[in-house]
Amino acid sequence: MICEKKDCTGCFACYNICTKNAIEMQEDEMGYIYPVINQEKCINCGMCKKVCPNINMIELHKSKKTYAMWNNNKNIRNKSTSGGIATMLCEYIIENNGVAYGCNNEINDNIKFIRIEKKEDLYKVQGSKYVHAYILDNYKKIKDDLINEKTVMFIGTPCQVAGLKNYLGKEYENLYTADIVCHGVPPQKLLREEISKKINEKENLTVSFRENIKYCLKVYSNGKLVLKEMQDKNFYILGFVKSLFNRENCYNCKYANSKRIGDITLGDFWGINKDDNNGLYRREEKLGISLCLVNTGKGEQLINNIKDKCYFEERSVEEAIKGNSQLRSPAIRNKEYFKFKKLYLKYGYKKASKKCLKIDKLKKKIKTFLSKEKQNCLFI
Ligand SMILES: Cc1cc2nc3c(=O)[nH]c(=O)nc-3n(C[C@H](O)[C@H](O)[C@H](O)COP(=O)(O)OP(=O)(O)OC[C@H]3O[C@@H](n4cnc5c(N)ncnc54)[C@H](O)[C@@H]3O)c2cc1C
Ligand code: SF4
Ligand code: SF4
Ligand code: SF4
Repeated sequence: MICEKKDCTGCFACYNICTKNAIEMQEDEMGYIYPVINQEKCINCGMCKKVCPNINMIELHKSKKTYAMWNNNKNIRNKSTSGGIATMLCEYIIENNGVAYGCNNEINDNIKFIRIEKKEDLYKVQGSKYVHAYILDNYKKIKDDLINEKTVMFIGTPCQVAGLKNYLGKEYENLYTADIVCHGVPPQKLLREEISKKINEKENLTVSFRENIKYCLKVYSNGKLVLKEMQDKNFYILGFVKSLFNRENCYNCKYANSKRIGDITLGDFWGINKDDNNGLYRREEKLGISLCLVNTGKGEQLINNIKDKCYFEERSVEEAIKGNSQLRSPAIRNKEYFKFKKLYLKYGYKKASKKCLKIDKLKKKIKTFLSKEKQNCLFI
């Protein structure tokens, strides 16, 4: 291994730097991917160790400003996970001779990072995919773009931003990065297993994981909805929310704190005081409110350039940290984690997830039922 397996984030920095193509990213028995070195091709140059963010950790920034924001374009905001600020940042960069990199939602192939040149194509990377998205060779493509004087916007998990920075090895004025507040990532294998047993359609499958602020797995085939299950009915979504399936390293994530790696950090402004501004945030929360931390001078410049196209209010960083646990510490490993692993390897996904999540599922069902009842009572 390049770094210890328990720490590896699957960031692909080692894979991108190896000029001998000696590194393959391979799924282990649970579906988590790790680099494997082909000793016959390896020349022991040491570059993979040099770029690994677990061996050479990058400095994190204390954020300078905290904003509550949302995109004034309701259509974009509706299709985004929080307030639709990610799309707005990418649009601005593309309008200014740039390109954006983000992760797509097509599951016939792997969910992976893609390069976007046109604003009309940004829908392909919109929305959170609650799964480990593969970088593949995109760090190399980003470097080419930067050398060719393109402005680049990269939005990914903090460990992916770290991988990119270490791979590049120096600062580029024309690179802008946004990291997302991150709870952890399950492997794509579990998602594929969840979906394949529920739908017959196979063609052009795309996924989405949220319906506004509610967690929900939706699968489309050729753009037509073929599966929709809310959190109380879907084991994958429930397992993600309950931290049952995360990669091992995510339970010890170095980036789950208020010091950040990107120029900007994007997340959900869960903890915002909903009584402020005459209850504005209470009225707006259903459409999604973005938390935006500005961490560097570049980030500040970027936000200043998009401010006229969105709602924004400066808030305190303490408010953001208080309401968002992943700005304080990594997600806590579900107590059924090791049992799940054992059962999965013996009986497969369906049985293992059912056994380990049945109580959580029941609790969610009761909670959903009670909140519906409460709403009915309000209308009587
Ligand atoms: C795995 C994961 C866990 C998260 N956990 C939290 C959390 O605990 N707390 C919180 O406040 N916010 C969390 N978020 C972030 C949140 O869901 C939104 O992505 C973020 O607020 C941006 O929303 P938006 O409306 O601005 O843009 P959106 O359009 O929703 O975001 C799109 C951008 O997110 C990137 N993205 C989407 N999925 C992935 C992925 N799997 N890997 C890398 N990049 C991806 C895309 O590249 C794209 O540019 C998480 C996101 C992911 C993907
Ligand atoms: S030591 Fe060099 S050649 Fe060998 S896997 Fe690492 S980067 Fe590739
Ligand atoms: S560079 Fe990334 S993928 Fe490679 S070993 Fe280090 S953490 Fe793992
Ligand atoms: S929790 Fe940390 S290590 Fe895991 S995907 Fe998110 S940023 Fe990377």
